[in-house]
Amino acid sequence: MTEALQADYVIIGAGSAGCVLANRLSADGARVLLLEAGPRDWYPFIHVPAGVLHLLHNPRVNWNYATDPQPNVNGRQIHWPRGRVLGGSSSINGMLWIRGQPADYDSWAQMGCRGWSFDECMPYFKSIERYAPGEPERRGKDGPILVEDYRTVLPLTRRFVEAAQQTGIPASPDLNGRVHEGVGFSQMSRNGRFRGSTARTFLARARGRANLRIETRAFATKLLFDGRRCIGVAFRQRGHERTALAAREVVLSGGTINSPHLLHVSGIGPAGHLKSIGVDVVHDLPGVGANLSDHYAIRISHRVRDAVSINELARPPRLLGEIARWLTTGRGALTFGVSSAQAFVRSREGLASPDIQLLFSPSSYDHNRFGELERAPGMTIAVSIARPESRGSVMAKSPDPFVYPSLQANYLSAPNDLRVSLAGIGYARRIFAAPALARHSVEEITPGPQVASEDALADYIRNQGTTIYHIVGTCRMGEDPLAVVDSRLKVRGLDRLRVVDASVMPAVTTANTNAPTIMIAEKGAAMIREDAA
Ligand SMILES: Cc1cc2nc3c(=O)[nH]c(=O)nc-3n(C[C@H](O)[C@H](O)[C@H](O)COP(=O)(O)OP(=O)(O)OC[C@H]3O[C@@H](n4cnc5c(N)ncnc54)[C@H](O)[C@@H]3O)c2cc1C
Repeated sequence: MTEALQADYVIIGAGSAGCVLANRLSADGARVLLLEAGPRDWYPFIHVPAGVLHLLHNPRVNWNYATDPQPNVNGRQIHWPRGRVLGGSSSINGMLWIRGQPADYDSWAQMGCRGWSFDECMPYFKSIERYAPGEPERRGKDGPILVEDYRTVLPLTRRFVEAAQQTGIPASPDLNGRVHEGVGFSQMSRNGRFRGSTARTFLARARGRANLRIETRAFATKLLFDGRRCIGVAFRQRGHERTALAAREVVLSGGTINSPHLLHVSGIGPAGHLKSIGVDVVHDLPGVGANLSDHYAIRISHRVRDAVSINELARPPRLLGEIARWLTTGRGALTFGVSSAQAFVRSREGLASPDIQLLFSPSSYDHNRFGELERAPGMTIAVSIARPESRGSVMAKSPDPFVYPSLQANYLSAPNDLRVSLAGIGYARRIFAAPALARHSVEEITPGPQVASEDALADYIRNQGTTIYHIVGTCRMGEDPLAVVDSRLKVRGLDRLRVVDASVMPAVTTANTNAPTIMIAEKGAAMIREDAA
């Protein structure tokens, strides 16, 4: 074994959260060691925004997890991509930048997370971003991540926004601004014409610092303890067993699957389960791995007439023109993310905030070829159950850290989730039928107009729904016995160990989870620095 690496802070995982922490914690001279299981982010498709389809199953940059067969979605295993590369999932995601609803954070505060109400999170949402339009009291102007509106907006996207208003959904000029409800255009996290991962934004700003050391292909295998105090981590790098020791703290930022998994194989979790798989218990913490929530979504697609969709732009000969356009102007189809406009609506009267997210894209997928766009023009609304009640789990199956854990989503296990999805399909169909979009629709192709009864739609939801990749919650923050970290993100009952990533969210936010995760890391870094002062 080689000599142990020494640092003040050892951060495990260079993802959305880990790269933010590495930047902020190394800013004032502390020695920071950042361990990342994956490689450096040199794979070219990471950096072209529209390259995202090449990353979803790509083992070079992706853990490629899958759930166990899930009973309420007809026994299907759902593929869960997760970034395994510098930047983590921010290097493979769809780049939508959206905070969610103020009520999301206010409900965290209500659930015992002191200091996490929306108003208290606002300074951190502002300090991470750089968004030129928008009100300065609500939007950041000089943070590391460039947030932009779509540089090229296809006419179909404008028609969607008009059509939604024709059905009575109000317009929001900035869904991250004053009005979070209603319909509006999407914003993206970018780095000029390229993807704005946290590796290329936050970490890039810190890379020249002599007190920051980054080790890639370094897989953390076990947390090391002296009694209840975490003192470091064992990791495997290119076949060598190595150790890193932390003089101040170990910060776990492995994401919603890997953070609880590393805790489990290190002996922290529900004691009964750990013993049953042959792990010696260091600390009985029953909530580790529980409380997983995710966004389950269903797509409604139409064949398009009299308008251009991405389907045609994404294949020759037009693709060649788009490549030339991207290289010369930094605009066009290669800058697109996964959804160009969105709406947040309520499934029923009496709700405090929206519980459905509708994501529009002027494109449609070929159902026979995974991840491929159709040849003929198409457009799609994905209906996401945005505040799901179903809860799943991540559970280690073996003491071996290389054995993937058992993953349960339990999609649709809470009956209300199916009701919300049906209500969302109703919204999508009304929007497609509104004049602004109806004139561009040849017909609904999936599920098709014949799928109309509640039973038939429920079958469609169970058979065809899938994740939109927002798993959170497995190291839940709170003050109750099942909480894993406290409101300062410290693992309860242990010293010098925090979890800072999407796994600490008590419940998933009403929208996509990258901006909230980066906010958590920004706020977490401030707490760590405060506590060290
Ligand atoms: C395909 C996809 C599309 C998405 N689209 C969007 C979107 O458009 N907008 C949006 O807001 N959100 C989106 N998300 C969600 C968002 O990207 C995630 O919520 C967010 O990136 C989670 O950040 P994290 O820091 O918790 O984890 P990650 O970013 O996944 O980082 C964890 C890092 O830790 C490393 N790691 C794990 N275990 C170990 C170990 N034992 N040792 C060393 N390193 C380890 C991993 O390799 C990884 O780099 C998407 C996610 C995916 C997967």
